[in-house]
Amino acid sequence: MERVEYELRIIAEKVSVSSQEVVKRDTLKVYDIEVPESILDLGLRHEEQISLLEKVQNSLLALQSKLIDPGYYLCPRCGQKIVKKGFTKSKFHAVFTDHKIGIQKHKCKNPDCDWQSAPTTSSVFGTPIHPDLAKLQCEQGALYSFRKAQTNLEKLTVHRRSVNNHNQVKHITNEVGATLTQAHLQPIATTKAASAQEVILQIDGGHVPTKDPEKRSFEALSAVAYRPEKIIEVDSHHRQIKVKSCALSAQDDDLTTMKTYTLNAARKQGMTENTRVTALADGAQKCWSVILSLAPHCKKLLCILDWFHIAMRFQNVRGAVDDAFTETLEGVKWKLWHGKSDEALPKLELLMTNITNEKKRSKLKKLYNYLENNQVYLVNYKERDQQGLSYTSQVAESHIDTIINDRFKRTKKMQWTHDGAHNVLQIRGMITSNEWEKGWQAPVLSALVGAA
Ligand SMILES: [Zn+2]
Repeated sequence: MERVEYELRIIAEKVSVSSQEVVKRDTLKVYDIEVPESILDLGLRHEEQISLLEKVQNSLLALQSKLIDPGYYLCPRCGQKIVKKGFTKSKFHAVFTDHKIGIQKHKCKNPDCDWQSAPTTSSVFGTPIHPDLAKLQCEQGALYSFRKAQTNLEKLTVHRRSVNNHNQVKHITNEVGATLTQAHLQPIATTKAASAQEVILQIDGGHVPTKDPEKRSFEALSAVAYRPEKIIEVDSHHRQIKVKSCALSAQDDDLTTMKTYTLNAARKQGMTENTRVTALADGAQKCWSVILSLAPHCKKLLCILDWFHIAMRFQNVRGAVDDAFTETLEGVKWKLWHGKSDEALPKLELLMTNITNEKKRSKLKKLYNYLENNQVYLVNYKERDQQGLSYTSQVAESHIDTIINDRFKRTKKMQWTHDGAHNVLQIRGMITSNEWEKGWQAPVLSALVGAA
């Protein structure tokens, strides 16, 4: 066994800035300097890093906490002078570690008055939780189930912390989401200078499992707005929307919130009264209703039944027709692709009459009804394809699956209220549209300590 020749001391010094005199010195950690036998020995292990950080934080907090101003100099009860009376320990939850900090206590000098102060991090700062931790909790709570969020946070900080309990994560996510719910209703100003020529809008619905015992789920709507020039090619199979705005609502309010959010999202992307809007939707009446509400706010509104959804519907009925009719079905789709819905629909109707199996025929009938209900929104897809114009939500990500469905999977444990789901969606929307990193601080502070 080789003797350790050197050790590394991690020292915290409190130093006078003017004289550079060391007033206080503490050894926080001592590490033996040894040959690393393997990659595991290189540097500090995860747990040790957290432990070191904890000690550094404690050193700083011990000095900072002495400076905390209680905010009063006279007894609030009788107006006499006050004197110091020791320190009171109070909880503080930093991003990776938990601490107890000592805050100066006071008592009244008047012998007939028994007033004493009881300061805490909450009474001084409004919260014992550092906003950086709350931010992390919101991100985890918006992206994963609250239990999964707890597990993820535990892995990050090695130890289980009560502040990261799933109920806490749920609470803060909901509070921050509620703040955003209000903020997202604020009107967005438009300027002629920033006016977009064209804005694309993709709108779709997802399902959220409900607390309501009468129903299985309720619907949440998602709209994504972007300028066509912001679609960039990642590789030959993938395209990405570089800049976009999201509108997400699970409110049961006759689409009022959704319409306001969608208008705001389109305006964030530069929609003015000089802008052409191309809107793609899956055919649900609710979606068209939201889209049509934009008409007074833009120059021209073109509504298109999303080719991605048409193709999916055809995929789903393929099994309903026998081999002999597969070609006919393909023919119907081909007519639609070429914008000939007036020929496609009778052709599909004729095909239906040839199917004797009741179940299979009803499948085709569903497809027929879908196309007929949305006939005014069918366009010449081939022509748009050749001209490089939008006609399908498939060209780029931002699908309803990633925005809504991934977070609201049906599980035994998790059932949602409209408000609960709506609030989570506000954070998800900000993360999806890359607005969270620059915009999280105001809603997190507002949720933690009240009005900013
Ligand atoms: Zn007093």
